Amino acid sequence: MEHLLTEEQLDVKRAVREFAEGEIRSSVAARDESGEFPADIMRRLGELGFMGVNTPENLGGTGMDTVCYAIVIEELSRVDPAVGVIASVNNSLICYPLEKFANAEQREKWLRPLAAGKLLGAFALTEPESGSDAASLKTTAVRDGDAYVLNGTKAFITNGANAQVHLVFARTDKTVEKSKGISAFLVPAGAQGLRVGTLEKKMGIRSSDCVEVNLQDVRVPAANRLGKEGEGFKIAMLSLDSGRIGIAAQAVGLSQGALEEAVKYSKQRVQFNRPICEFQAIQFKLADMEMLTQAARLLVYAAARKKDAGGRYNHEAAMAKLFASDVVTKVTLEAVQIHGGAGYLMDYPVERMLRDAKVTEIYEGTSEIQRFIIARNVLSA
Ligand SMILES: Cc1cc2nc3c(=O)[nH]c(=O)nc-3n(C[C@H](O)[C@H](O)[C@H](O)COP(=O)(O)OP(=O)(O)OC[C@H]3O[C@@H](n4cnc5c(N)ncnc54)[C@H](O)[C@@H]3O)c2cc1C
Repeated sequence: MEHLLTEEQLDVKRAVREFAEGEIRSSVAARDESGEFPADIMRRLGELGFMGVNTPENLGGTGMDTVCYAIVIEELSRVDPAVGVIASVNNSLICYPLEKFANAEQREKWLRPLAAGKLLGAFALTEPESGSDAASLKTTAVRDGDAYVLNGTKAFITNGANAQVHLVFARTDKTVEKSKGISAFLVPAGAQGLRVGTLEKKMGIRSSDCVEVNLQDVRVPAANRLGKEGEGFKIAMLSLDSGRIGIAAQAVGLSQGALEEAVKYSKQRVQFNRPICEFQAIQFKLADMEMLTQAARLLVYAAARKKDAGGRYNHEAAMAKLFASDVVTKVTLEAVQIHGGAGYLMDYPVERMLRDAKVTEIYEGTSEIQRFIIARNVLSA
């Protein structure tokens, strides 16, 4: 697939792979067990320009194309998808909407340090009672002079315990259609009344933190509203289109990592006096894993190119995410199967990889919601 990449994209791939092998791999298993947030790794990724890959250079980012961004997330996730998602949230769900909707003052104050990795952002849309039906969120933001007062609870917030700023979606108007009454706010983590809950105990990607964020009479200056009043749902949906390319890339990277582990093990493990890779049953599994991973990668690059070309790309992003997340679940499951009993033990990375994979079918819109988006586009074409 490298023949499809430009010199710049190949350079990025090599650089991130070297970083992931040299500075991430050795701590993956320990962080999976402890759940410790990879603070040093994220700081280094910021220094290398990988926390604002797409953000234009004049706004503090690295100014690369979306294929480069996908490659960054893919290569990080090949080794550690927890690091991949932390970076993806900051890049796609924070820097991207700020690039598109922030005013000059907000760009200087927030986007520049976020894109440079000096600050970390969290995207707070989901609530205990609104997940797939995000437009029904209940958190409120009531205008009071030159400020808004926010009340509500956000659930499942990635980076929530480590972020310095939360992009919070709250209802500013209850009299209009649900999706039209929502606005977006930049809320500093230290704001009075913002309380971060305990870390959720997750199946996988354990060193990426996920918390509830409670807002009780949190007062934010009106200058912290991102975009116009009522524009919040649109901002959230555009952010998620961009985010889905990141999650799809995360799935492709993890799939690639699992395939490599399976190939390695199948060459080492001897049964019936032969390495198991000589059995056609194992070879056919490896062939399917390779084909599916490559096909998913093509869909990710296609979605990234569509985004760079301008115009809407929600169809391509949804297809890339749906397919790649389905692939990574299948591929990691087969990687465990190829390891036999060893694959069921924590001694081998494929056990963690299978646990890490599942969430790609759930967050940033479940697979059912991706199918809904794709079908709606097909039917309205
Ligand atoms: C580890 C992790 C990290 C996350 N990080 C973030 C984050 O940083 N920020 C954030 O805002 N959110 C985050 N989320 C939340 C995530 O986006 C939601 O969990 C997801 O959108 C699904 O919402 P839900 O969990 O409420 O499931 P529900 O919406 O309750 O869905 C339950 C099931 O019903 C299905 N379903 C729902 N509606 C329909 C329908 N109309 N048709 C068919 N099927 C349907 C779903 O597909 C699913 O299978 C995170 C979640 C996890 C697990």
